[in-house]
Amino acid sequence: MKVYSFPRGGLSFEDPSVPSKGPSIAAFLPALSVIPLVQYPGERAYPLVTVGDHVREGMLVGRGGSSGSVNVYATVPGRVLRTVTWKDGEGRDIEALVIRMEGSFERLGKREEHSSWSKMNSHDLQRLITEFGIVEMEGSGHPLAETIASFKNSVTLSLVVRCVFDDPWLAADYALCRERLAAVVEGTFIAAKARGMVRRVVFAVSHREKDMGEAMLAEAAKWDIPASLVLVGSKYPQRNRRELELALRNYEKSEGIELGSLLILGPATLAAVYDAVVFKRPVLDRYVAVGGSAVKNPQVMKVRIGKRIGDLIEECGGFIGKPRRIATGSPLLGKTVVDLDEPVTKTSYAVFAMLKDQVGDYARRDCISCGECRSVCPVGIDPEELYKQIIRTASRMPEDAAECHGCGCCEVVCPSRLPLTDTILGRSREEQRA
Ligand code: SF4
Ligand code: SF4
Repeated sequence: MKVYSFPRGGLSFEDPSVPSKGPSIAAFLPALSVIPLVQYPGERAYPLVTVGDHVREGMLVGRGGSSGSVNVYATVPGRVLRTVTWKDGEGRDIEALVIRMEGSFERLGKREEHSSWSKMNSHDLQRLITEFGIVEMEGSGHPLAETIASFKNSVTLSLVVRCVFDDPWLAADYALCRERLAAVVEGTFIAAKARGMVRRVVFAVSHREKDMGEAMLAEAAKWDIPASLVLVGSKYPQRNRRELELALRNYEKSEGIELGSLLILGPATLAAVYDAVVFKRPVLDRYVAVGGSAVKNPQVMKVRIGKRIGDLIEECGGFIGKPRRIATGSPLLGKTVVDLDEPVTKTSYAVFAMLKDQVGDYARRDCISCGECRSVCPVGIDPEELYKQIIRTASRMPEDAAECHGCGCCEVVCPSRLPLTDTILGRSREEQRA
């Protein structure tokens, strides 16, 4: 089968401190969980419980209101001990409920009733997706119902299932796809029906995982929307929207199939859609890859949302030395963890802690004009030149900077450790000038 990819730049890399691709391990239930009312791009959810209240597993504890905000659920039964606030690595104020686990679980370990969705219409399905607070769990955390509604009814639409493992830190998505493949595929067809007007489902799968893609396609034969398997490259950032779309437009041209607009969703989101509609269940847990050179036993864990990151690392054997960097997500684009009491959220697909040796030193040096950044930029802009222009002119962003989608490739390869990505994206400019 032909492999479709983006035409230039990108990076291939391995990381020995990533957990292996073996089966996931269920993490212990958290004695204390921290449930943020702001996990998403929008406003905080309005709290429906107060200190001292008892909550049930899967109980609605915060009502999302404005655009970008979603409903929030307790993931364990217990009592609300207190509320806490902190500033996250991006300077946002986060308010959260701290719940001490007590009482019995209503879902865990019990056989859940399986509801049929065949007679539900798109309105009913969208209502369940909204009610159970489903977000895009692979990245932005944007409410899925808003993403689905953002496409015009008139357009030809394909739903793309993104199983692209271009970064070893996607080990949790990989485990999820292996362990819950049928749920991911059924969730795909539920999401397609919720949206309506989806003409085709496309499984975009890394070429090294062809067997996974074929198993998805075989499972998809149960539903009546045509489905295709498209093998894509494994170089980073193949899963970025721009690079994935480039690969799929090549496929479209080569196969003579019209895909139209692309609704691109990841496996964790689709499994969550399945749970919401089939089991009437909010997102209670997620697969998380825990690793990095500072962690004793890296592993992929199935973790309750709200479990504290420090407890999770402790469960992986703790630190073997003083970590220099702790963050969630991939080291390429990770969000710094300011405090080990910060919790796992719906978008925490990886948690890593690195020793100094793995991080290297932060000392910046002058550009040596090696050209490495140019050679890896998938967009074809010149990061060196842009960086220098921005530093020189201080007030005006060069036009080309708007092309940058922040993949971080240039910064990873820069031997002078220059903050290319943030500078080009215009983040922290005050800080850069200081
Ligand atoms: S990779 Fe860094 S040192 Fe090399 S040309 Fe680009 S900015 Fe300069
Ligand atoms: S961060 Fe921007 S400039 Fe750097 S490689 Fe990616 S797209 Fe190019």
